[in-house]
Amino acid sequence: MRSTMPDFPLTLQHFLWRSTTLYPDKEIVTRREQGIHRYHYREFGERVARLANALKGLGVGPGDRVGTFAWNNYRHLELYFAVPCTGAVLHTVNLRLFPEHLEFVINDAEDRVLFVDASVLPALERVAGKLPTVRQYVCLADGPLPDSPLKPMLSYEDLLAAQPTVYAWPALDEREAAAMCYTSGTTGKPKGVVYSHRSAFLHSFAVALTDSMGLSEADSVLPVVPMFHANSWGLAYAATMVGAKLVFPDRFIDPASLATLIRDEGVTLPAGVPTVWISLLQYLEKTGTQLPSVRIIPCGGSAIPPALMDGMARRGLTMLHAWGMTETSPVATISQVKRALRDGSEVERRVRLKQGLPVPGVELRLAAVDTGAIQPWDGKAVGEIQVRGPWVTSGYYRGVDPERFTADGWLRTGDVANVDREGYVQIVDRTKDLVKSGGEWISSVELESAIMGHPKVLEAAVIGVPHPKWQERPVAYVVPKPEHHGAITQDEILTYLQPLVAKWWLPDEVRFVDEIPKTSVGKFDKKVLREIAARQVPAAIPSE
Ligand code: ADP
Repeated sequence: MRSTMPDFPLTLQHFLWRSTTLYPDKEIVTRREQGIHRYHYREFGERVARLANALKGLGVGPGDRVGTFAWNNYRHLELYFAVPCTGAVLHTVNLRLFPEHLEFVINDAEDRVLFVDASVLPALERVAGKLPTVRQYVCLADGPLPDSPLKPMLSYEDLLAAQPTVYAWPALDEREAAAMCYTSGTTGKPKGVVYSHRSAFLHSFAVALTDSMGLSEADSVLPVVPMFHANSWGLAYAATMVGAKLVFPDRFIDPASLATLIRDEGVTLPAGVPTVWISLLQYLEKTGTQLPSVRIIPCGGSAIPPALMDGMARRGLTMLHAWGMTETSPVATISQVKRALRDGSEVERRVRLKQGLPVPGVELRLAAVDTGAIQPWDGKAVGEIQVRGPWVTSGYYRGVDPERFTADGWLRTGDVANVDREGYVQIVDRTKDLVKSGGEWISSVELESAIMGHPKVLEAAVIGVPHPKWQERPVAYVVPKPEHHGAITQDEILTYLQPLVAKWWLPDEVRFVDEIPKTSVGKFDKKVLREIAARQVPAAIPSE
């Protein structure tokens, strides 16, 4: 029997209609060089319509890729809606890609038009002349057009000024592509993932649920996580869907700027990767700044070090751990604590430090890394996480890397985890980052978290280095807190670790450095660390 319900298309047009109709006076705020830019959903809607008309004028048609090369700001949000709502495909290009990756992703996606923030023009100019599919550049800035080898170039504001503030939005198929994003290449060449209207729509609902981020129109949402990376965790769409106030930091993501923005704009939900919050916590501790408006800090991209979560808790700030990847839109698990476990004890703390429960819509299983056998959820057995769901990609753009998908349609994530009886996922490591010592595995993530608990340590990253007897042994790269530079020794770290980890897990060497190389999205870049390690002398204390 058929239902009486229509196949009402789940498209982003609905979010645009809803936010501009129900919350016309809600603010969208952007930090700029010259101060704050502020407008409301009403004006946002008008400018999105102007932009849609402009795209038509530029000859952008259904399915055409439109690239953005921009920070988190109101113009980027306009593109987030105008491009997919006209039937074209938004390709958010990572600002921090190396030139060869930059050239690769723009050519692979075959972007027709590229919208570029004036402040990042130089980064794109490095590949000028190498982007044959791009027919038009549009500069996102106030004032006159800068002189640039990227040609032909138009001014965004001039383009919009000439257009009407209404647009006849076309009927769209929810399964059509709305956006695409490339993996940030932490472990290899970027691979394209293409999102549909339907996947972005359903993902927004999942992100907003009370047991997820609990998004409300009463929230003031600050996506620090870049809009060029995994859709700023879906927040640009989810926050607009519920009509929340949106606050954008643009490129001003240093701790002082973030603290000011959070305080001044009453931010309730700032979201970003751990490295952002590690430096913010340092700043808060140094200056005594309080951030009373913050309700919850969603954090993911890499594991939250316990010292960070505890430090934030001491300042009255609650972190919400989430896990996902570009391939999963990205939110797949969130660590909201089940009522029965909310007792304020160590048990609850440990749950909060896990990556969480699969969100409604996402199914998850563990497969043994060597045999592929499905593993029990007992909190001990480890395996690679496999996931499926309406916003988990079923392949990569152009069909590359098909072996990342199982014959029965699950995504092999490359993340190794255990899942406890309650269903909480705990990431142990990436398969590529596990340290394989004497046929056993050492979790680099767990070692890093333990080292970062040392009061003199700011950041730590652990990699496996080749070893003649054990195959690999862990080496730790450690950044001391500024006040402890030069005043911390390897022995101090090893003594501190001894009661926390198995003896054979202790790093063979601790190397003190000024900073740990980071990826384009602020994660520890272990690919670069491994290259650095390969050029350094072998570990001073060989394991027996
Ligand atoms: P890349 O693989 O290039 O870093 P993504 O940004 O898509 O690209 O990153 C996804 C990966 O980030 C996951 O596969 C996982 O290894 C890691 N990750 C994401 N969230 C967490 C988390 N909360 N804890 C540990 N690792 C995480």
